[in-house]
Amino acid sequence: MPGSGGRPHLAIPGPSIMPDRVLRAMHRASPNIYAGELPDMMPGVIEDLCKVARTDGQAAIYISNGHGVWEAALANTVAPGETVLALVTGRFGQGWAEVAEARGIAVETLDFGKQAAADPARVEELLRADKGHKIKAVLATHVDTSTSILNDIAGLRSALDAAGHPALLMADCIASLACDRFEMDAWGVDVMIAASQKGLMTPPGLGLVFFSAKAAEARRGLPRVAKYWDWGPRAEPELFYQYFGGTAPTHHIYGLREALDMLLEEGLEAVWARHEWLAQAVWAACGVWGADGPLRMNVADVANRSRAVTSLSLRAPDGRRLREWLEAETGVTLGIGLGMNTEDDPKAEGFFRIGHMGHLNAHGLLGVLGAIESGLLALDIPHGLGAVGMAARSLAKPAAGAAS
Ligand SMILES: *Cc1c(COP(=O)(O)O)cnc(C)c1O
Repeated sequence: MPGSGGRPHLAIPGPSIMPDRVLRAMHRASPNIYAGELPDMMPGVIEDLCKVARTDGQAAIYISNGHGVWEAALANTVAPGETVLALVTGRFGQGWAEVAEARGIAVETLDFGKQAAADPARVEELLRADKGHKIKAVLATHVDTSTSILNDIAGLRSALDAAGHPALLMADCIASLACDRFEMDAWGVDVMIAASQKGLMTPPGLGLVFFSAKAAEARRGLPRVAKYWDWGPRAEPELFYQYFGGTAPTHHIYGLREALDMLLEEGLEAVWARHEWLAQAVWAACGVWGADGPLRMNVADVANRSRAVTSLSLRAPDGRRLREWLEAETGVTLGIGLGMNTEDDPKAEGFFRIGHMGHLNAHGLLGVLGAIESGLLALDIPHGLGAVGMAARSLAKPAAGAAS
């Protein structure tokens, strides 16, 4: 079948689709890094990043991916030998805990499995029992991209408050920022981390850390902070190079500037509503496919589902076969099953993910869903009929709470 013409579509949970505007903004000669447009642009970039994060706090940027800011968040707040509580709802929560352990931090873990959100009541109970306030920070993942579980960050704040516990609340919003509603200040988050390549629609390479006054205080209380990871000079630079601890990621800044313009022109509320609207269509289609066949959404409870990514299961190896068929025949690339390995399915070949984050509209999403339906038919994978029509109906007549 002729599947190679036309524009390919990346439906993975990061890196996400790059808007032409971002591409064009980056397509330029190397700029002057000492004076002029680029240095002048930075205060506005930081200001607009904070708008997207919904914080009046401070921000630091690293030339890194998400793994880098896992490191940065901890390097500025928790000393080796101190303790953190890691809430795990998938591979990414586990990954952050491993970074903490490798820094010599003692990690207590509450693992909620791969299909349920973190339970604030259990967190409160554990924090109440920590009478000596040994736990310095609670590490939460807003959306765990492997499982597509959305965690209730405001609920976790309430758990800390109810327990009267002074630990910092840290949230990994790498997958969710500018996709799922997130309110850093209103939800009482002390440290939030994000990266450029998901909802922010910019190539991988920028790690972002946002922090509250309380987190800044924790930083000042540490005996030492590795110079490169220190967020102090990055957040309060006296010279342009200090924003990045060295040479600026020149073209990424231009790309990010354009992406922030796009987000703020659309309006953050509208961006969230668009993601809600599109996610509802994904769920509508998946519900129909699954009604008469093996396809299942990983997260059963709608309240715990992300608007950025949907993790799905089939019978192994049909997740892999479906991905391969779509890539070869339709130009759509789906996400691999990540962290879902079991003894029966050691390579997680029964799983796949649909990324629906960032620069996406209804026609792009309907293309993805139509391509999946073709793949299910082509590979003789049993499924309920009429899913794409149901997605179209969901888009035409969104449920209450979704965008109109
Ligand atoms: C993508 C992602 C990461 C890792 O980011 P990298 O850029 O791949 O290092 C961490 N946490 C979450 C929630 C993510 O979605």
